[in-house]
Amino acid sequence: MHEHDVLVIGGGGAGLRAAIAAHEEGADVAIVTKLHPVRSHTGAAEGGINAALREGDDWELHAYDTMKGSDYLGDAPAIETLAQDSPEETVQLENWGMPFSREDDGTVSQRPFGGLSFARTTYAGAETGHHMLHTMYEQVVKRGIQVYDEWYVSDLAVTDHDDPSDRECHGVIAYDIKTGQIEGFKARNGVILATGGLGQVYDHTTNAVANTGDGPAMAYRAGVPLEDMEFVQFHPTTLPSTGVLISEGVRGEGGILYNSEGERFMFEYGYANNDGELASRDVVSRAELTEVNNGRGVEDEYVYLDMRHLGEERITDRLENILHLARDFEGVDGLEEPMPVKPGQHYEMGGIETDENGLTCIDGLYAAGECACVSVHGSNRLGGNALPELIVFGARAGRHAAGSDLGEAEITTGRTGEIEEEDGLDTPVEPGAVSASTEEDDAVADGGNAGGDDDAVADGGAAVVEPDETVRRAVERERTRIEHLLEKDTGVQHASLRADLQESMTENVNVFRNEEGLKQALEDIQEVREAYQDVYVSDPSRTFNTDLIHTIETRNLIDLAEAITLGALARDEFRGAHWRQEHQERKDDEWLKHTMLSWNEGTPELWYKPTILEGEDKTYEPKERSY
Ligand SMILES: Cc1cc2nc3c(=O)[nH]c(=O)nc-3n(C[C@H](O)[C@H](O)[C@H](O)COP(=O)(O)OP(=O)(O)OC[C@H]3O[C@@H](n4cnc5c(N)ncnc54)[C@H](O)[C@@H]3O)c2cc1C
Repeated sequence: MHEHDVLVIGGGGAGLRAAIAAHEEGADVAIVTKLHPVRSHTGAAEGGINAALREGDDWELHAYDTMKGSDYLGDAPAIETLAQDSPEETVQLENWGMPFSREDDGTVSQRPFGGLSFARTTYAGAETGHHMLHTMYEQVVKRGIQVYDEWYVSDLAVTDHDDPSDRECHGVIAYDIKTGQIEGFKARNGVILATGGLGQVYDHTTNAVANTGDGPAMAYRAGVPLEDMEFVQFHPTTLPSTGVLISEGVRGEGGILYNSEGERFMFEYGYANNDGELASRDVVSRAELTEVNNGRGVEDEYVYLDMRHLGEERITDRLENILHLARDFEGVDGLEEPMPVKPGQHYEMGGIETDENGLTCIDGLYAAGECACVSVHGSNRLGGNALPELIVFGARAGRHAAGSDLGEAEITTGRTGEIEEEDGLDTPVEPGAVSASTEEDDAVADGGNAGGDDDAVADGGAAVVEPDETVRRAVERERTRIEHLLEKDTGVQHASLRADLQESMTENVNVFRNEEGLKQALEDIQEVREAYQDVYVSDPSRTFNTDLIHTIETRNLIDLAEAITLGALARDEFRGAHWRQEHQERKDDEWLKHTMLSWNEGTPELWYKPTILEGEDKTYEPKERSY
């Protein structure tokens, strides 16, 4: 068994920042990651980091823009912390050597981004994430932080207490992708999940194949509620044939959107009379699809993004990467032609419920980055606000897990605050129709987790609290599960199940949603879940068995697809990225609250907690959101 003070699961932006912070507090910290850190998806981030650095800007403006962008579903204390700490964290990156783009006078450049009232997006060309990742990885190497790369974490080692908020996390179980060994990792102080996005729930996404939501799925099954999962961001400018992102930086630099009639539709049809192309992402995505639905799309599918008028010098100086992406993935020369673009899944606003120190309701279990929901994005994330979230809340989680006293977080987690039961709502979820798992699920293919441990049930729920024993038992359970998957020689393969899931989610739980489609998605997810009981791995090898890894990941995608859809069906209003055909208005009286979903031993339970609109010095009053 490996043993460290703090285990960080994931080597992307959030994980690296958390590891550095924990190390600075004197902790023995290790990163366990299925990809080498610099292959993490943070490396794909193009546009930039929002930070109020310049005269004329301040954190209050950043906080206000973020709250408005969130459609008043973000929590004010978390939003204000993001806006207050982002400048210092960004300067810290600069001090570590991050090569930010600069003006002629040497100051760091900032560009306009959607939904921002000030040009506050700091960037390094159109490769901001790549440079951010490499800058922080250098610091990890310099500090001698141990990295277990190509280790796949398949479950958490959590005690068996009946009430999730009594549980403790003592480590993780990981599968060495290079050798096939399954081992326990014990964390003396804490485990920080920093596993990134879940874009593989959809088939048209800007996310990498590795973005399978492993962290949220593991935390959810261990008893931590998922928050606001229905809020999925669809980015307005992705390449139609691959989903590869064309950064908002193109519109920030002055790029223009046209429909098939050559009209600048954002203004022509009044979608955003002030900000036009630089309206918030949800607004632009809906506008594009409305154009297509009204017959003004190109090939009934996409619109054009034109940057030719910016000129070759400016494009190659600030957006060179975009030229490569458009040419390599769509065969288009951005200097000579407009680029075809359409909305694609991009970001999950919801995630593992945490407080401002990254702590979940399970003692010793933290989360940060895209897998977490602290909540700064509410129902719609502003471009350029994810990268600061990684460094601000990654650092806080690292410090806290290492034992530093950051004071009480203002947001409580778990079912301790003011809550509203699902029964009190007119929720359209039909009992039984969407049950997340059957009893057999917990047996073999699904494996179960600490919260559903067979022995604990037989013991009448007796709690195992001794850390080494908790990890050892979790290792045994994972060995049994994985051996079973490898030994089974017939059944259904994960690829067809994953494709069915992605197809239904893309069809039914996209930018435009309606009750019939959401119910259809839940039926499809249930079918996939049942079929997964018979899943098998065709490749029996022990080394670099991607078939096995993808099979385990597919189970996570099923649980998360269901979480997204359950939340979307219950929320009968239009807020941020969540649009409902039958309910096209924001209903503040009823819905100014976070959707919470508890695993509840396989029968998901929806409940709600209020949004916090009271900030440090003011209350953010919900206003009509126009751009
Ligand atoms: C194309 C693109 C462009 C973007 N551009 C911007 C931008 O300009 N500005 C902005 O603010 N935001 C941007 N975003 C959003 C932002 O980049 C992401 O939200 C953020 O980088 C996620 O960082 P992370 O550290 O949470 O996860 P990641 O960087 O995805 O890292 C996740 C890590 O977890 C590890 N991991 C996952 N599962 C397991 C497991 N089971 N076991 C072990 N390890 C595991 C992976 O190996 C990886 O190291 C962009 C997103 C995309 C997709």
